Amino acid sequence: MAGKQNYDVIVIGAGSVGNPAACFLAQKGMKVLVIEKRAAAGQGDNKAAIGGVRATHSDPGKISICMESLGIFKSWQEQYGFDVGWKPGGYCFPVYDEKIENTLKALLPIQKKFGLNIDWVDSAAIRELIPGIEPSGLRGGTYSPEDGQVSPLLAPVAFQREAEKHGAKYLFNEKVIGYTRENNRITGVLTDKGEYAAGQVVLAAGADAAEHSALLGIDIPVTPDSHEGGISAPIEHFLAPLVVDLRPGPEGKTANFYFGQNKEGQIIFCYTPKELFIGTDRESLSEFLPILAQRMISLIPRFKNLLIRRVWRGCYPMTPDGVPIMDAPRQLSGLFLAVGMCGQGFMLGPGAGKNIAAMLTEGLPIISGEANDCFRYDRDFHKKTTETLK
Ligand SMILES: Cc1cc2nc3c(=O)[nH]c(=O)nc-3n(C[C@H](O)[C@H](O)[C@H](O)COP(=O)(O)OP(=O)(O)OC[C@H]3O[C@@H](n4cnc5c(N)ncnc54)[C@H](O)[C@@H]3O)c2cc1C
Repeated sequence: MAGKQNYDVIVIGAGSVGNPAACFLAQKGMKVLVIEKRAAAGQGDNKAAIGGVRATHSDPGKISICMESLGIFKSWQEQYGFDVGWKPGGYCFPVYDEKIENTLKALLPIQKKFGLNIDWVDSAAIRELIPGIEPSGLRGGTYSPEDGQVSPLLAPVAFQREAEKHGAKYLFNEKVIGYTRENNRITGVLTDKGEYAAGQVVLAAGADAAEHSALLGIDIPVTPDSHEGGISAPIEHFLAPLVVDLRPGPEGKTANFYFGQNKEGQIIFCYTPKELFIGTDRESLSEFLPILAQRMISLIPRFKNLLIRRVWRGCYPMTPDGVPIMDAPRQLSGLFLAVGMCGQGFMLGPGAGKNIAAMLTEGLPIISGEANDCFRYDRDFHKKTTETLK
């Protein structure tokens, strides 16, 4: 067993959020240790993401953090010389239904208030953005041109390399199983291989976060539910934006579905099941692809010729209100919670990482107080929020 070693910050989990948090903390001169139970960075639910990065939300916190993420991803290659697979092209929500039109239009004022470049566009514009989309009944939709797509396989390498360049240490295949504490102060962690001390511990354990409730003696309200995704063989580039169809499916199984064409030309896709699958089962279901294929072909008939390469299943670490927790709980000092990223942890990750680094080193968030308050641990999780796109 390793002896006790001292760090400024220990990050639990090298995932969508922990890995960029480690990177930005190390950039600020912190002595950082990242402990990851899997064999490499990004191998938890990070790699299940389809790589959509949008600031198109209705919760002020998510809008502000994702705008930061977009800035980081867009400029990464220029700044650090590493290609994260950034593909601009925006996000488009095509609409066939009056109720969905009203919902999306009602969100525009709050989205614009927080600086989002988004508007309602007519059906002709949607047909240009999504060539081959079913035109009958198409009412128009929203389009946010500054959103985009990033590779969830390349991004973890980028953040780890930058973190290590600034001295961060990564331990893989090592699981945090407990904490050391003095009264109400967390002073470090216990793993299945050793003990490590630090001034601050950041819990970024994704779908496993609630396991730490008992270890810490506080409630961490994160319940994972599983979602499936898939990817095709590459085809000629024809689709710039990521597309979200918010209609529930006629088959009664899907609440909505979304897809995009990545930098390599592959179509990458998911749906949100109508009945959620609570838990961490990551075995693919045989019903996913036939249902998804039907939805894709009814929206864009030319997809009938797509060759599908593989499918997978991963988890959304959900909070009761669909908004993450990024806060230091008042009950315990030395602990920062970066959990409950819901269906948007990949896009929140870089902005969240930067925000966490600023809060732990300077005591102030990089986003407005109003936006940052959305992530408080002591909020009422059952109060209705503005967030409708969880
Ligand atoms: C099909 C699908 C599609 C998705 N598409 C998108 C998308 O397009 N855009 C988007 O933003 N999000 C998307 N998501 C959601 C996204 O994948 C998650 O929100 C995100 O990965 C969660 O980030 P995280 O850092 O909280 O968790 P993770 O990335 O899972 O990281 C947590 C890490 O902690 C480690 N860990 C856990 N417990 C311990 C422990 N005790 N000790 C050490 N290590 C530990 C885990 O191994 C893991 O690596 C999608 C999810 C799915 C399933």
